[in-house]
Amino acid sequence: MSVGEDMGLEITDRFDEAVHAMGLGRRYRVNASEWPNSLVAQVESLARFIRDELAQEVPAGVAVPDILVGVVDDPSFNAHAFLHDGHPVVGINYGALILVHALSQRLFSQRDFCRWVGDARKEEAAREFTPLCDDARTYMRAVIKDRTGTRPVDQDRRKAAELLAGLATHFLVAHEMGHILCGHLGWLNQHGCFEAAEATALLDDSSRALSSQALEWDADAFAMHNVLGLTLALADGAEASDPTLPGPKIVRTPEEALQIAMLCGMVMLGVFLPPAPAVDEWSLLSHPPAGVRVGLHMLAAHQSLLVGGRTTVISTTTDRPGWAVGFSQMIFRNIWRALGQADRDDELRSSFGPSGQDHLKKIMEQWAQIYPEVRRYSYFGVDATATPAWKKGSRGSRTSVGVVGAPRRTP
Ligand SMILES: [Zn+2]
Repeated sequence: MSVGEDMGLEITDRFDEAVHAMGLGRRYRVNASEWPNSLVAQVESLARFIRDELAQEVPAGVAVPDILVGVVDDPSFNAHAFLHDGHPVVGINYGALILVHALSQRLFSQRDFCRWVGDARKEEAAREFTPLCDDARTYMRAVIKDRTGTRPVDQDRRKAAELLAGLATHFLVAHEMGHILCGHLGWLNQHGCFEAAEATALLDDSSRALSSQALEWDADAFAMHNVLGLTLALADGAEASDPTLPGPKIVRTPEEALQIAMLCGMVMLGVFLPPAPAVDEWSLLSHPPAGVRVGLHMLAAHQSLLVGGRTTVISTTTDRPGWAVGFSQMIFRNIWRALGQADRDDELRSSFGPSGQDHLKKIMEQWAQIYPEVRRYSYFGVDATATPAWKKGSRGSRTSVGVVGAPRRTP
């Protein structure tokens, strides 16, 4: 079945018309000679799943909108959420999916990446990969020509790479839908901006840029809550009953569920990860610098775990700064190598050092300021004056630094 067939002709046309009108290309038509077709085909069903889950959680009488979600054929690495004729639309560039797939494969092909999955000793110690370029067509040709192969050697790690690619696509789709459902687009429209896009830009106004970074935090928190709910369900046993996933379980414990969910956020960052500018320009970025953003993901995961009452896993992971830094460093080292990029250790040090902490605080302060107004445009009826559920349970935890906004759900 090709993309869009199961959505019906009318919706296919509306999506195509909407992305075309926005100048984002056209609907991506699956070409059997290209890959990763399965991820392309998954995008619409993931969107339906996310919407149906949310519809069960919102208060009675709140309608979760239909969002036109699809894949666009523009070869740049990007993803967009926008309104067309008042109708919410999410377009994922096919290049983003190619990179999600390639990064997932490359990560598990490295020996010191997630050593707890399968037999990591079978993978090469310091594997080198084709460097990234900014054009999906060129990049895909380079990856296909790469005769050294991009698949992990170990069978379980191969399976884990496929699992990660699917879940990271879920994270990406949920993030874009979050920009709509959490009220961002409605709020942005009031401020003369008509879309949320993922390619990082330098803006000329730091208040606007910090607001944009705060919205990224909120969309990430929405996505993290979604994906963590899924990976925890896998740890709790759902994976064993899924016939499409043969072999031993990949996600066995809540700690592993947390790591895989964090990796999904990291793969999404890897898709849109240009080198960070100097620290004094961080406040002009449209998206938080990568290291800070991983800190925000950790915070989002922590709060989602709190909401779900998962205090045992919190005590061995997100409540331990040593664990958080060690895990973040492991995934950064591997993602940069997977991207074929030069050594970026300095960037990492500044992201996790005092500059990173200061910047994270700035984002949270900006979010506390705009949160009540943004939520007025939210689709799931959060009362801006109410105390979010996780704050009641947080009891002054180290990593809780402000008002945050993932919708309430028990993972
Ligand atoms: Zn975003």
